[in-house]
Amino acid sequence: MKNLIEKMFGTKHERDVKKMQPLVAEINNYFEKLKSLSDEELQAKTDEFKARLAEGKTVDDIMTEAFAVVKETCRRHLGQTWDVVNQPTEWNMVPFDVQLIGAVALHQGKIAEMATGEGKTLVATMPTYLNALTGKGVHIVTVNDYLARRDREWMGKIYEFLGLSLGVIQNQMTNEERREMYKCDITFGTANEFGFDYLRDNMAQRAEDRVHRNRYYAIIDEVDSILIDEARTPLIISGQVESSVHDRYRQMKPTVDVLFRKQTMLVNDMIAKAEKLLASGNADDEFEAGTLLLAATRGSPKNKRLLKVLKETGMKKLVTDVESAYMRDKKLHEVDDRLYFFIDEREHSIALTDQGTAQLSPEEQKLFEIPDISTMLSEIEGDESLSPEERQKKTDEIYRVHGELSEKVHAINQLLRAWTLYEKDVEYVLQDGKVMIVDEFTGRILPGRRYSDGLHQAIEAKEGVTIEAESQTLATITLQNYFRMYDKLAGMTGTAETEAGEFWDIYKLDVAVIPTNESCIRDDNEDQIYRTRREKYKAIINEIVEKHNNGQPVLVGTVSVDVSETLSRMLKRSGIPHNVLNAKQHQREAEIVTHAGEQGAVTIATNMAGRGTDIRLGDGIVERGGLHIIGTERHEARRIDRQLRGRSGRQGDPGSSIFYLSLEDDLMRLFGGERLGSVMDRLGVKDDEVITHKMVTKAIERAQKKVELQNFAIRKHTLDYDDVMNVQRNWIYERRLAALERESIKEEVVELIEDVLEGLIDDHCPEKVYPENWNLTGFTDELRKIYLLNLQFKEEDIPDLTREKLKEQVHGAVMHIYNQKEAAYGEEIMRQLERYAVLSTIDRHWRDHLAEMDELRTGIGLRAYHGGMGKPIDIYKVEAFKMLEATSVAIDREIVNLVYKLQISMPEKSRAERRREAEAVASHADTTGMGYASAVQAPAGAPQEKNPMAEASQAGRQQRTYRRKVPKVGRNDPCPCGSGKKYKKCHGAME
Ligand code: ADP
Ligand code: MG
Repeated sequence: MKNLIEKMFGTKHERDVKKMQPLVAEINNYFEKLKSLSDEELQAKTDEFKARLAEGKTVDDIMTEAFAVVKETCRRHLGQTWDVVNQPTEWNMVPFDVQLIGAVALHQGKIAEMATGEGKTLVATMPTYLNALTGKGVHIVTVNDYLARRDREWMGKIYEFLGLSLGVIQNQMTNEERREMYKCDITFGTANEFGFDYLRDNMAQRAEDRVHRNRYYAIIDEVDSILIDEARTPLIISGQVESSVHDRYRQMKPTVDVLFRKQTMLVNDMIAKAEKLLASGNADDEFEAGTLLLAATRGSPKNKRLLKVLKETGMKKLVTDVESAYMRDKKLHEVDDRLYFFIDEREHSIALTDQGTAQLSPEEQKLFEIPDISTMLSEIEGDESLSPEERQKKTDEIYRVHGELSEKVHAINQLLRAWTLYEKDVEYVLQDGKVMIVDEFTGRILPGRRYSDGLHQAIEAKEGVTIEAESQTLATITLQNYFRMYDKLAGMTGTAETEAGEFWDIYKLDVAVIPTNESCIRDDNEDQIYRTRREKYKAIINEIVEKHNNGQPVLVGTVSVDVSETLSRMLKRSGIPHNVLNAKQHQREAEIVTHAGEQGAVTIATNMAGRGTDIRLGDGIVERGGLHIIGTERHEARRIDRQLRGRSGRQGDPGSSIFYLSLEDDLMRLFGGERLGSVMDRLGVKDDEVITHKMVTKAIERAQKKVELQNFAIRKHTLDYDDVMNVQRNWIYERRLAALERESIKEEVVELIEDVLEGLIDDHCPEKVYPENWNLTGFTDELRKIYLLNLQFKEEDIPDLTREKLKEQVHGAVMHIYNQKEAAYGEEIMRQLERYAVLSTIDRHWRDHLAEMDELRTGIGLRAYHGGMGKPIDIYKVEAFKMLEATSVAIDREIVNLVYKLQISMPEKSRAERRREAEAVASHADTTGMGYASAVQAPAGAPQEKNPMAEASQAGRQQRTYRRKVPKVGRNDPCPCGSGKKYKKCHGAME
């Protein structure tokens, strides 16, 4: 049905493109007329456009004219040469019609899917020029520093001719340099730089230290890499803290070591038994053998011997069948009970069994008796004999003990994970006594990046290297929430379509598929599937040798540095000269990739290596069939495979692609292996034989789709949690910004003085209690502490007190002190002091708040594991909101206290504090091990909205009405916890 409609009317994308045809005609029409203008007249267009915008025209009104001006500028530069990253480069581009269509899509805030080599760099110039005319600043986001510089220099002449200023952000730049760059009409840089600058701006101690000026319009190049791959982990700025965590990991190491060894022995035993049972040929024994193998899989999924057995004919199917049987009877735990601990690779979860717990020392065993806090808490609530303070104390104590216990359990779990799931030289490498993460997408080593949540410490403990201090988060944001702050967002890439759902769901970005300028004639071959990796590599090498001898260039894509190196070793043995790229040195690798299309070139590259660089065919290569692409493994995401193929067949070039797979590949092992194994059995495939079969390819694609969904769920999970934080972050940052930028915050401080006082009265002198029973001692203590006010009540006056009188009297007294202080120090110093009080207090509390939120998240994972308390994210929202309220009260009190307490010599920051700030590092956190198990849910349907981007950015902002205080919320207002529900249906309902 769908196909029929598509045949008659074209796909949605084809229809969309058709709709843009009249615009293309209009642009070309203007373009023709511009030819007669002198250079000066053409350049004058910029001022003319700006004037028209000032008169109330919109960017949409002048779009076609502005695009035509860029096109004409391109034409006038044909044949000119200028340096681009130190290479003299001749300008040879005038936008094709399809490029104009892409430009319109970008201007409309969409993602333009345009194949590799279609000239997206040029496409971006048109919407960039148009939107930069507003003077609000356009950000062009690239995947690395090198490409930022390249694009700035390559397209620079066009923009400069038209009178626009250009900036480029590079990693090592100072604040002053960055600020200048951001002042420009157009700023190039990586997503990380833009995001970190935002975070740093919100840590600035002086308004003039801030570098961003606006977040108006961003065009993100290779948008899938940034908004999908990179977005899995939040940006984090952290500083080191003293902590005793390393001790915990060191102490627990021997325990886990023993557990792991016992488990290995146990699993080996199981495998041996299973093999024996199977050899007996007795059909009755088969189920037990399958059970043993299933237990081994759950106990040690990466066990070498196990993997070997599972490769044998029919084994995978046996295990899956047995697993289904146990699952059907809900008896999977019986399998797990045979182990010390079990792992669910699919769900990223790990846990000790009773047998495993029994291996621990008695002291450690106590850890696992996690008390049921909800019962304990309700017992305290119900205990009439306790005073409110005692009750509070007991509750705090329970939370403290519970927190400590959970952390220790968490440490054991992380250590187990480090031992069983993280392999040296695959997930990480050891370099100079440090554990360095290997990026699973690009295969490159990520210096300075650390696994979060103690996992890194656990691996350090495992490897026996120095366990580095845990660092404290000073500021953090996900890329999702960063980019949602832009008024308008657009992106371009060769591969967006498979992720269109996510782009829409999370960013409200539509994908427009733009046709290629020349049709693509690349020959995509069917997958070649082998049983073992070894056979697969052999076949790959044979193919490379053959192509190389014919002079055809070959680009080999790998999923990891490891595989790149294996292949490189094999090629060396065969005497084939080749280059290996690991996305480590962007510029050098870009230069190498430029030559990857020349005669006989063999290039091995991980996915991101050399991305963004055009591969042109050398002389005589067209006749030899163009660039040949070999994929060495299916990637988790189909998108990444498409990217690899897309490197060949650019601009109508000939080319070909083929993937070599084996049943031992991770993806196959996890998701499709057993089915494929049985298919191969049925087809009677032998060990060294290759098969190509539609059915197999289909099965792989199904597996990929499954992983894609799961990874989407993980990103969504990160985002769900960050959304809660986002509301809080906006509130804190806005309050901070006001303190930073406003000339005087006296008004706010004076109001605070009164608010805090009211809070104290509420706490100590409740309305429905007789003055005789007020806690006046507590009250006067607080007054002394906060306002430095000494106040005594005479016994005989107390019965006559009212809250109003009390407030009036105390308020008069504290304001008197305040006014005296201001008179003594002078207005200017007083204002500085207030600013300092607000900034330092907010920063310190926010830092602690972030740590608490982190703990809360970990704790909630555990609590959810013990079950029965609702969805973790909902608990998180409720608790996070309570925490914010508490933090807010603490902040207010401390600000007031500082205003009263601070002496005239402005307090220097402590040395430790300054050191910590100096050492603050920006990193991209790794979210592995965050307990995602519970997060896997189907994505929600796409909502229908009229101006999606504006609304999406609005959604991020709607809570910003917050001022100083967590506000009193109307019953019909959106709940401030960020749930999107009405207050009365959310937190309001609970009060
Ligand atoms: P993409 O980013 O889409 O992969 P690039 O922006 O790197 O592609 O451009 C690739 C190459 O395509 C350019 O180096 C240029 O040689 C060529 N190209 C792009 N647009 C045009 C054009 N309009 N006319 C001629 N060549 C073009
Ligand atoms: Mg590009």
